[in-house]
Amino acid sequence: MADSTPVRPSWPAIKRGLAGRCPACGEGRLFARFLKPAASCPHCGEALDGHQADDFPAYIVIIVLGHLLVPTMIEVNYWFDIPLGWQAAIWPTLTAVLAIAMIQPVKGGVIGYQWARRMHGFAVR
Ligand SMILES: [Zn+2]
Repeated sequence: MADSTPVRPSWPAIKRGLAGRCPACGEGRLFARFLKPAASCPHCGEALDGHQADDFPAYIVIIVLGHLLVPTMIEVNYWFDIPLGWQAAIWPTLTAVLAIAMIQPVKGGVIGYQWARRMHGFAVR
């Protein structure tokens, strides 16, 4: 059976999603609010509400931040003698700031990938 469904390249869609742009055209804003995707692209009209990103963006952020911050904490503690009270303030704050900074682009990337692969609500109907 021949599949006539056009192929959507994944990496351009992921990059557009990471930039907070529509995975189809790269022009319209992907998010209506911080983590709430727009129902459709204001530029090209592509439906954007078919994603099922769920908790996957948070898992990606946790894995990436864990692999960045734990070695950084170990290295900083090896070279510097920072009082424990300061560390109790610095590391959780740094973690929260980086997680908040990463979650929207990562969610955009996940939505871009789902759109490109026609997953969930992006499937051909
Ligand atoms: Zn668009």
